[in-house]
Amino acid sequence: MIADIRDAVGDTMGITLRVSLDETIGELGFSNAELRDFIEMNRNLPDLWDLAHGTWEDCSGPSRFKEEAAQELLVRGIRELSDRPMVGVGRFTSPDVMVRMIKSGTLDFIGCARPSIADPFLPKKVEEGRIEDIRECIGCNICITGDMTMSISRCTQNPTFMEEWRKGWHPERMNAKGDSDTVLVVGSGPAGLEAAWALCRRGYDVAIAEARTEIGGRVARESRLPGLSAWGRVKDYREYQLRQRPNVEIYLDSRLTADEVMAFGFQNIAIATGATWRRDGVARQHVVPMTIAEGAAVYTPDDLMDGNIPGGNVVIFDDDHYYMGGVLAELLVQKGAKVTLITPSAYVSDWTRNTLEQGTIHARLDALGVNIVLNRGVTEIAVDHVVSNCVYTGRTCQYPADAVVMVASRSGNDQLYRDLILRQDEWTDAGIRSVKVFGDAEAAGPIAWATYAGHRYARELDGEPRGDALPFRREITELAAEHTPSPELCLHD
Ligand code: SF4
Repeated sequence: MIADIRDAVGDTMGITLRVSLDETIGELGFSNAELRDFIEMNRNLPDLWDLAHGTWEDCSGPSRFKEEAAQELLVRGIRELSDRPMVGVGRFTSPDVMVRMIKSGTLDFIGCARPSIADPFLPKKVEEGRIEDIRECIGCNICITGDMTMSISRCTQNPTFMEEWRKGWHPERMNAKGDSDTVLVVGSGPAGLEAAWALCRRGYDVAIAEARTEIGGRVARESRLPGLSAWGRVKDYREYQLRQRPNVEIYLDSRLTADEVMAFGFQNIAIATGATWRRDGVARQHVVPMTIAEGAAVYTPDDLMDGNIPGGNVVIFDDDHYYMGGVLAELLVQKGAKVTLITPSAYVSDWTRNTLEQGTIHARLDALGVNIVLNRGVTEIAVDHVVSNCVYTGRTCQYPADAVVMVASRSGNDQLYRDLILRQDEWTDAGIRSVKVFGDAEAAGPIAWATYAGHRYARELDGEPRGDALPFRREITELAAEHTPSPELCLHD
């Protein structure tokens, strides 16, 4: 096919060929050794070899399980088999690693998909030496969930992703400031930090009040859990940028009351106070608090992130179905507990099928000795055991439990917002023009939803909310009007 295409197009265009580095299906697919033979046999057929792992799961593993440049060993040495240049991928976010790949002769071009979603201006920033301005991909694979769920994609690091042609959000440029001047952002988690970063670029004077003694909210805390250190970049990027700005002030250890907020004199109050994991089991199986015996040791993910780690036989009841239950199972095993993970789902960490890591999570927990119990709920927590029910038959059995970690739902920390709303008739005297709650405090979700909500708040301040039922504008590609003798296609925007 490549030879036929070459005959048809001659040297009017470059021809690239993507090949799988190893199809990881044994005898039924190409091994890496066979791929090398293939490239050597056809060494100069395409103009560019494009090297990538075959399946999406292999190629685009999350940072929890795959390091940057994870395909380096499979690629190394292939460069010598052809005179044509090679491009490869591997969630490259660090210019140092990119340079090493080129200087070592491993690759000629650096391919970036997720890193370009997180920061479309990554090459420009490398070119200009603005390394600290690169908004590095955190490898969470939220961008992939849009494909998997047939819904709009989001990016945790780049909230403008997918909104460039719908809401007109440029990844680097903000809209002009409105007619107010000051904003108090309460909370420095992903929603608050992104709101502050976007607001200060619009020209507002911004103060951030954080109740804890560290900045970052949930991303600071969750990035200390097993495998999630790269998620700290959500905080690191924004904190660095905010600290360069003269129109931003950050106050730590500052839990605010409505009285204090009313007295400060800010025109706009942005409430991004995050959410708290529920202890009563309310999530999917239980829509009202479940039966918990007095004296039963029930922990939440917040307890574990605060350093309160139970030991002995620990049951994790995962009715959240995303990463947290599996990550805490790893943490507890590391700390010496004997862990049973019970979930009503047919898959452990079910929603991570959308982030291409569910199979790896199951294998990791199995290797760690976690007792994985699928298709079962928890109906009751006693002092030394839990009662578990089959989701199909309802038949019950017991599992010994010195402690239970409840990975259920989260409740928004919106008390300050509610207190301020109750005093709406005092706002004008206090100089307040708007009070808004957003992010996890309004509706708990993945981190990407929080950064998006923060950015949206900043974009829409002092303007009309644009809603979500907006059409996508499209670039129209058409053939050139004039006749051209060559088979070349001309693209017009
Ligand atoms: S969603 Fe996550 S993995 Fe995807 S580009 Fe953004 S930061 Fe990277």
